This record gives sequence, C-alpha cells and structure tokens, in this order.
Amino acid sequence: MLTSINPYTGEKIEKFKELSKSKINKKLKTADKTFKNWKETTFEKRAELMQKLAEELKKNKEEYAKSISLEMGKPITQAIAEIEKCAWVCEYYAENAEKQLQPEKIKTDATESYVNFEPLGVVLAVMPWNYPYWQVFRFLAPALMAGNVGVLKHASNVMRCAENIEKAVLNAGFPEGCFQNLIIGSKKVEFVLRDERVKAVTLTGSKPAGGAVASVAGEIIKKSVLELGGSNALVVFEDANITETVKTCVQARFQNTGQSCIAGKRLLIHERIYNKFIEEFITQVRELKSGDPLDEETYIGVMAREDLAKDLEEQLIDSKEEGAKVVLGGKRRKAYFEPTVVINVTKKMRIFEEETFGPLISVTSFNNDMQAIDLVNRSKFGLGVSIFTEDIERANALIPQFEDGAVFVNELVKSDPRLPFGGTKESGYGRELSSHGIKEFVNRKTVYIN
Ligand code: NAP
Repeated sequence: MLTSINPYTGEKIEKFKELSKSKINKKLKTADKTFKNWKETTFEKRAELMQKLAEELKKNKEEYAKSISLEMGKPITQAIAEIEKCAWVCEYYAENAEKQLQPEKIKTDATESYVNFEPLGVVLAVMPWNYPYWQVFRFLAPALMAGNVGVLKHASNVMRCAENIEKAVLNAGFPEGCFQNLIIGSKKVEFVLRDERVKAVTLTGSKPAGGAVASVAGEIIKKSVLELGGSNALVVFEDANITETVKTCVQARFQNTGQSCIAGKRLLIHERIYNKFIEEFITQVRELKSGDPLDEETYIGVMAREDLAKDLEEQLIDSKEEGAKVVLGGKRRKAYFEPTVVINVTKKMRIFEEETFGPLISVTSFNNDMQAIDLVNRSKFGLGVSIFTEDIERANALIPQFEDGAVFVNELVKSDPRLPFGGTKESGYGRELSSHGIKEFVNRKTVYIN
C-alpha cells in the first residue's frame, strides 16, 4: 500500500493499492497495443490533443494544484504556477514538434540521404515528488508528440498527483494507453524495465535511484536518460547589481521550499561586497512568510516528508561541528525547516559537498575569478551555475570555464520548454525539453537511397 501523508498536518490523506504483476502486464499490453496505432497518427492530430491537454490543465488548475500542496506541501501559489507551466510545455510541443522532427536531409554520394526521427515505443518514466506535475509533463509532452507512449512510476508519496495526470490526459481525449500511471513502489521498477515491450527509461531523482535504474538499463541495452541531483552555485562578483542579485538569489534558493534540483544551493560572494550583500540577503530571507501551504500568502511551506527535513538537519549539525555558522534560522519542527543562512562554509563541509534539498543556503567568499571557478567546479554535480556581474565580456570569458550543463548570467537557473535542460557529472546525462529533448526517445534512422 502506498500512503499519501499531508506533510503540513501529518494526516494520512489517501491510500493506494499497489498493482500486482499481472495488472502491470495488462497495462503494458494496452500501452504496446496503443503505440501501434498512435505512431501512425499525424502531428496535426497529436497537436490537437496536446492543446486540449493544455486547456484541461488551465481550466482545472486549482484542483490539480491543491493535490500538490496536500501531498508534498508546496505553497498553493507556486503549485498553480507549476500547473500553468505544464500547460505551456504542452502548447510548446503542440506547436513545435512537427518542425523539430522533420527528416534531416544530408548530402552524400547517394541520390538521396536523410535521417528520419521515429518513435521507439513504450517509454518508462520514473519521477520525483518535488515538481510532481512538471517533471512528468516535461517528459510526457515531447514523448507523446514524437509518437511514443508513456508509463509512469511516480514517487510513492504523490500518487494522487500521478493519478490526476493520467486523468488529465484521458480528459483531453488521448486514446487509452497513451499515458498510464502505474501504482507501484520502487522495487517493481526493474520488473517493468525488463519487460520487452518497454523500450527506454527516463529517471529524474537521486543518484542511488539513477544508478540502480541505469545499471539495469545498461545490462539489457535500453536507452536511458538521467536527470539527477544538483548543487548549483550562485556566484556574485564584485561588480554585480547588489539589490537585483539579492532578490534573484533568494528566489533561486528558497522557492519550492528549497526542494529543487536546480536551486542555487551554494552562494559564493566576492570578498569586496561580502558584508553589504550578506546583510541585504539575510534581511530578505527573514521576510519570507512560512505557513500553511494552502494559504496564498505562504512562500515557505513544509518539506515534503519529515525524514527529508531530518536529513537536512543532520547535514547542518555536521557542518556546524566543522565551523559553519548559522546566521538565520537553523531549526526544524517536524517537516518544517526554517529558512536558513549558513556562513563560513568551506569546501570540506557536508552542506558544500552534498546536495542540500531544503530551505538552507551555504555561503562562502572568494577573492578572484580563478578561486570562484574552482569552487563552482569542485562540486561532484553539474546541473547549472548562475553568475552575477555587470560586465558581459567578463561573463563570456568565464562561461567556458564551468563544467555544468547550463550557465545563466544575472538570472537564476530555470527550465524553459524552449531550452535544453540537463546535467554533467553526477547530475546525469541526456537532455530534456527543446528540440534536443524530443530527440532523446526516437530512432534516428539513417536512410540512403542509391
Ligand atoms: P528519489 O528518492 O531518487 O526518487 C525518485 C524516483 O525514483 C521515485 O519515483 C522513487 O520511487 C524512484 N526510486 C527510488 N529508488 C529507486 C530504485 N532503487 N530503483 C528504482 N526506482 C527508484 O528522489 P526524490 O527524493 O523523489 O527527489 C529528489 C531528488 O531528485 C534530488 O536529488 C533532486 O535533485 C533530484 N531531482 C533532479 C531533477 C533534475 O531535473 N535533474 C529534477 C528534480 C529532482 P519511490 O518514491 O517509490 O522511492
């Protein structure tokens, strides 16, 4: 049985019976059968349904958003914004998929040679709870537009969200079997992945989950995409616009109660502006309103589960023993963790080395560009980095020095349907979104006509 617990009240809200192997089999059979027809549909037909899905989301955004707040504690205004973003990605691929998947002509010795982009079949998506709709939709929209069908194994604590996504797809008019939720725990993922009707897997989540799934996929030679953890740096150079940068950095770290893979978790500040910057930063973090996730005034909700808040607390305790100093917050009450600012953080501390998945920011100073680059790249993760400077020439010179999947200048790292998204190092491989993402789950078929 999978149980949803409201992390704000501690109440059990719903129970979901896990699917037996024979029920999983039935769903995979439906998926495979649907794929055979779905791959023959026109882009026009797929786009029409995808637009309807966007409308369905927009029309019922309050209902869908509430399921997020109840199951994982996201403040309601941020949950509504998440649903709106899902509608955007549906519209984006409805409008662009056909163009992105046009055959690519290549001149060779042949009379004609080109690459066709053809769907693979049933794709398994293993997803996390932190953006329980968005993470799924950024897979679902391109996958279905490319002619694939999807089966979802969502995080065990957000099964109502998962069921709602399947419902939304059906309400939009997609054929049964185009997208199905599998109510299963992580132990059954391997069983699904090994099924020969499943052709590929995408996983968004932690390194242990990614490693486990990718090693099975590797053994049976199935394509995998991994979107894993991150520990993005926010690098504030001495010529940054302080007021604007403080605002952006607060949002980069504390939105979604700090539970985002691309959150700016390590704040690196140039010595010359350190005191002024940190003072303004603390002032703004202090103003963030904590409270009931269903209250529209709330910016900081609770963490998704009490055990996750405890993990963060342990990372902080260990780092304090190494000399880190809490200048704001630092306390936990059940799943609630105060917005926390920690200074004097060094490279060896857990809150610098590891991903911190909650409302806590570690602060370190630097005194030259080389030092800043070294601090950024020292992380075992490589999702993205934000740099703040008024000197764009300097920014352009710095960009190639970073090992991450994205560099944002004077902006927080964010996902956008129009741009590729993904990491390097332990943050995973492959890309989602844009024309790059839609080509992850296609057969790039080479055609040569003599
Ligand atoms: P998680 O514990 O790794 O879970 C992610 C998904 O994988 C869940 O559906 C989970 O199912 C499943 N899973 C866990 N262990 C598994 C295993 N051994 N085999 C098969 N499936 C397994 O991660 P989370 O706590 O939900 O999410 C937080 C993590 O996700 C953070 O590290 C965050 O940075 C990362 N993340 C990355 C991105 C990105 O785009 N790069 C985006 C969002 C989040 P159960 O719930 O049933 O365990």
